[in-house]
Amino acid sequence: MRAPPPVNLLGLDRPALALFMRELGEKEYRAAQVFRRLHRGDEDPFADLPERLRSQLRGETVFSEPPLAADLLARDGTRKLLFSAGEDKIDSVLIPQGKRLTLCVSTQAGCPLACRFCLTGKQGFSQNLSAAQIVGQLRVASRLAFPRRVTNVVMMGMGEPLLNLPALLPALRVMTDSIGFALPPRRVTVSTAGVVPAMKILREGAKCALAVSLHAASDSLRDELMPINRKYPLAQLMEECREHIRDSRRDFVTMEYVMLKGINDGAACARDLARLVRGLRCKINLIPFNVFSGAEFLPSPPENILQFRDSLMKSGLTVTIRQTRGEDILAACGQLAGEVREGRKVFPMQKETREEAR
Ligand code: SF4
Repeated sequence: MRAPPPVNLLGLDRPALALFMRELGEKEYRAAQVFRRLHRGDEDPFADLPERLRSQLRGETVFSEPPLAADLLARDGTRKLLFSAGEDKIDSVLIPQGKRLTLCVSTQAGCPLACRFCLTGKQGFSQNLSAAQIVGQLRVASRLAFPRRVTNVVMMGMGEPLLNLPALLPALRVMTDSIGFALPPRRVTVSTAGVVPAMKILREGAKCALAVSLHAASDSLRDELMPINRKYPLAQLMEECREHIRDSRRDFVTMEYVMLKGINDGAACARDLARLVRGLRCKINLIPFNVFSGAEFLPSPPENILQFRDSLMKSGLTVTIRQTRGEDILAACGQLAGEVREGRKVFPMQKETREEAR
């Protein structure tokens, strides 16, 4: 009989590692010993263990990261890391901003949600990444960034994180574990296009900040830009955002809004947006659209973005404009492409699914 494949320890959170140790007939405290050394980057994570257990773990486990295929540096200091994930390549982006060093992490190769303004979405979906591949991006980036520390993680790279919860949740727990990467939960942000049932599971299963890729404040426009809205329309999405604030006592939800010329950047859209988020503790982050080859949209001119911002601020909202970073190496928001082999298109939804959603 063929031996089972080795377990990749990078993808196990502390409770899963404790269970693994129990199954080997070991005491649970061994899990903390291995976990601490593993995520602090020690060369030998088994150094505290007796020789017998060490040789067993060397035979039955690995701690392998996704292989780094390219490392590109932009003029503004942004760094794009291209990792191999089987036949695909996925991107992470390191963004220095003063004392802050943010890592943008991918959770899927490609994305099935087909948002029309997003290059990743245009490619279709290839595969979910494993927890080890998600944690591995942070581990490699942390090593490359040394002596600086990665201070923030945003799950805003390739893919919809909430369509990959079985890998996302343990990865979040490893990143925020006090003896793991020890990132404060408010500095780890999960961004979603609005997979409402999974948002509830995230709220209950992990501590982190939430960002919503909103991009339109009416169902008619959002249906056109983001097919996921036909399944989970704005009323459901906003109710879940309110739950998130009530239940998890978070300070706010970030609303991401990409500025598309003549599509969602007019005065009426600003009014719709202010009305939609009324009463919700949120910050609006306006994102200049980064054009890519084959894009269907144009970026809003800077004066439109400023007018839009001012109109929202007059309604009492907190608004920021995201600075575009890493454009010259295609590392800016919405430009991540990796290399996805034969991505499958999942949205627009098939006719029967659309009818079901009505
Ligand atoms: S914006 Fe996010 S959810 Fe939409 S297609 Fe792109 S990666 Fe997927």
